[in-house]
Order: sequence, then C-alpha cells, then structure tokens
Amino acid sequence: MIENFQRFISPRVKNSTFSCIRCGTCCKLSQIILSNREIQAIANYLKLSVQKFKEKYLIKKEIHKIRSIFSDRFEIQGKVFILKKNNQNYCPFYREETNGAVCEIYYYRPIVCRLYPFTWKTSQYNPKFVSVAIDYSQNGWEECPGINQKNGKSWDELREEVTGAVLLSIIQSNELIADGFLVQLPK
Ligand code: SF4
Ligand code: SF4
Repeated sequence: MIENFQRFISPRVKNSTFSCIRCGTCCKLSQIILSNREIQAIANYLKLSVQKFKEKYLIKKEIHKIRSIFSDRFEIQGKVFILKKNNQNYCPFYREETNGAVCEIYYYRPIVCRLYPFTWKTSQYNPKFVSVAIDYSQNGWEECPGINQKNGKSWDELREEVTGAVLLSIIQSNELIADGFLVQLPK
C-alpha cells in the first residue's frame, strides 16, 4: 500500500491545490486505524514489543463492510486496531512546536495519516450499489485549511486516476483487518 501511495498519490497530491500548513487539526481530531504491518513497524521504532505497543496505544473496533471496486465486491468483517487518544483527546504521537505540528512517528505514520485530507468513502450501505472513491474526507473539507492552499489540479481532475489502484491494493492486501476475514463475493 505504501508503495502504491508513493507511486500513485504523492506525485498527484504535489500537483494539486492541497498543501499542508502543519496546523495539526487532523492529528487532534482524526480516528487513526493501523494495519498489522504498521503496528509492527511503529512498535519496532519505539523499541516496544507488539504486545506492549498494543496495550499502551491501541483499542480494537468491530467492522463489517461490503465494498465494490470496479466490478468486484468484497465483504470485510472483523476487528481493526485504532490509536487511543491521549488525555487531551489528541493522537498520542502529536506534538506542537513553535513552527508547527510534529508527528513523533512521522516516517512510520499510518496510511490514513499519509492520505489525509483524502479518504476512501462508501456511497451507501447497499451491497448492490455500494461504490468507493478516494476523495477529500468530510473532515478534510470542514477542517483542513490545506485544501485550496495553492494553484494546481483540482481533486475532481485527479480522483479518477488514483482511486481504483489504491483501493484495490488496500482491500486485496487485507492490511487493515487485524483480526477477521475478507472474501470476494460472487457477482
Ligand atoms: S488539517 Fe490539513 S493543513 Fe492541518 S495539519 Fe492536517 S493535513 Fe495539514
Ligand atoms: S500518527 Fe502522526 S500524523 Fe498520524 S495523527 Fe498521529 S501525530 Fe498525526
């Protein structure tokens, strides 16, 4: 997924109207989901065992979703790991410095942080018509002052290019399901 992110999204985000001004709003407000691979990488970086990292930083949340990518449908059921908030109700790795927000695990930050203010969205909960797209998240539109910061391609022009490849990669690699299953549904 990270490879796809770098290959498909990063160059396009650089040419878009988005530019992060390091206000820290997303780190204060977002719910951060982590894949098994991200958990392992961050635990290693913090020199903690995976078990200790989970106990200190994560909670589990149940999910059950149906997702369609192009003409294929997938059912995802299980549990995902989410970062616990600190006592200010912010991400525990968020820090404020005089020149802006800092992520203490920047080079190991989860994919949802790399993607923000973009996210993958479901159109509606109806397995026959559900579709998913990469788009500005609702929080992004409402809270991120980095959107429309500079001249560049609008997201409407970029959306089609990145959505399919990135989502397919996320879902097929099963990365975000910590404890559960993913099956491709019959057509
Ligand atoms: S809310 Fe937007 S501008 Fe502020 S730190 Fe997050 S991505 Fe950057
Ligand atoms: S992990 Fe880093 S980038 Fe992600 S919300 Fe926390 S502080 Fe922000």
